[in-house]
Amino acid sequence: MNANAVEFDAVIVGGGFFGCSVATHLARELGERTIVLERGSDALQRASYANQARVHNGYHYPRSVLTAFRCRVNFPRFVDDFPGCIMDTHEKYYGVGKRFSKVNAVQFKRFCELIGAPVSPAPKDIKRLFNLDYVDDVFSTREYIFDAVKLKNETLDRARNAGVEIRFNTEATCVRRSDDGSMELEANGPDGAYTLTTRSVYNCTYARLNKLLHNSGLPTLFLKHELTEMALVEVPDVIANRGITMMCGPFFSIMPFPARGLHTLSHVRYTPHCEWFDRKNEPYRDPYEYIETCDKTSNYVYMVKDAERYIPCLRECRYQDSIWEVKTVLPKSEVDDSRPVLYQKDWGLPNLTCMMGGKIDNIYDIMDFLTPARV
Ligand SMILES: Cc1cc2nc3c(=O)[nH]c(=O)nc-3n(C[C@H](O)[C@H](O)[C@H](O)COP(=O)(O)OP(=O)(O)OC[C@H]3O[C@@H](n4cnc5c(N)ncnc54)[C@H](O)[C@@H]3O)c2cc1C
Repeated sequence: MNANAVEFDAVIVGGGFFGCSVATHLARELGERTIVLERGSDALQRASYANQARVHNGYHYPRSVLTAFRCRVNFPRFVDDFPGCIMDTHEKYYGVGKRFSKVNAVQFKRFCELIGAPVSPAPKDIKRLFNLDYVDDVFSTREYIFDAVKLKNETLDRARNAGVEIRFNTEATCVRRSDDGSMELEANGPDGAYTLTTRSVYNCTYARLNKLLHNSGLPTLFLKHELTEMALVEVPDVIANRGITMMCGPFFSIMPFPARGLHTLSHVRYTPHCEWFDRKNEPYRDPYEYIETCDKTSNYVYMVKDAERYIPCLRECRYQDSIWEVKTVLPKSEVDDSRPVLYQKDWGLPNLTCMMGGKIDNIYDIMDFLTPARV
C-alpha cells in the first residue's frame, strides 16, 4: 500500500470515553494520524455520561473473581491517570441482603479479602441506617466516583493535545476495503457525505457496534441491550456524602452523581425497562432509534419503595429526573455478571477492530491489546 494514498492511519468511530482514549493512545504512543468521528455534537454524551460513575474496585463482582481481580488492577491505574476527575471524599458502604442475596456477609467479606479489597465493619451510626431484618451486615469499603463532565473535558483535552482530529455531528455509515488494500469509510457530516481513506478503523460505538457492521454488510456481534433508567434524586442529609450498594441480587445502589450534584438510584429489577438482542439472521434494530420509541414511564416509585425496606431514610429522597440510556453487555456476562472486554481484530475485514468495555476502567485492558498487537 502506498503510504501517501491514505489520509489517516486510524479512523475511530465513536467519541465516547473508549473511542477518544483509543485515539489518544494511537496518536501519542504510536505516532499515528488519527481522527475520531462522533455523530453527536459533543464527546462522552452517551454511555460515558449516563452511567453510575462508579470506579469499580472489585466489590461488585463476587460471582466473577476474574472481573474482580481486573478491577483491582485497573482501579489504581484509573485513579492515578484521572486524579482531577475522581471524587474520593465520599464514604462507600456495601450492605449484604439477608434474603435473595447470592452471597452472605461472611462470603462477601472473605471474597473482599481474597481479592485484596479493603473491607471493614461499617460504623454503628451507619449500620443504624439499615433495617437489619433484611440486611445481613454492612461494610465500609474503598470505592470512588468519577465526575462525567470532568472526565469528558480531560479526555477531550488529551485527545487534542495528542493531535487527534475530532469531527462532531459526523456519522460513520459504512466501511469497506478498497482495491489497493486500504480501507474506505463513508461518513455523513454537517456538509454532507464524503469518504475517508485509512489504514485501519476502530469501531468504538458501544450500543451501536452492530449498526456500522450491519450497514457495511459485515457479520454482526452477539450483544444484549437494555433500556436503563437511573433516577436522579436529592438524598436526605445523612446520605449526602455517601454511596451505598446492596449486594448481591435484586437490590439497588444509591451513588453520588457529581455531574448533576445529585445521587443516582438504580435497581437491578427496575432500572432495566426492556431488553433485546442483536442476533445473526434477525432484523437489526438501531438501539438509539429504538429507545426513542419505548415507553419511558419512570420506575422510580418501585425503586424507592423497595430500597426503603433496607434503608428506611431513603423514603425521604426527592425525585428530580431520570437518565435513560442503552446498556450493552456480552450475553455471556449474564451467567456471572462478569464484565469482560470485547476486542475483535480483523472483524469481517482486515484492520477493522471492534471493541467494547463493560466498565470505564476496561480501557486499560483495551490498551494492553492495542500496544503489543501493533509494535
Ligand atoms: C446505566 C449504566 C450504568 C453504568 N454504570 C457504570 C459504572 O458505574 N462504572 C463503569 O465503569 N461503567 C459503567 N457503565 C458502563 C460504561 O458506561 C461503559 O462501559 C462506557 O461508557 C462505554 O464507553 P464507550 O465510549 O464505549 O461508549 P459511549 O460513551 O456510548 O460512546 C459511543 C459513541 O459512539 C457514537 N456513535 C455511535 N454510532 C456512531 C457512528 N456510526 N458514527 C459516529 N459516532 C457514533 C455515540 O454517539 C457515542 O458517543 C454503565 C453503563 C450504563 C448504560
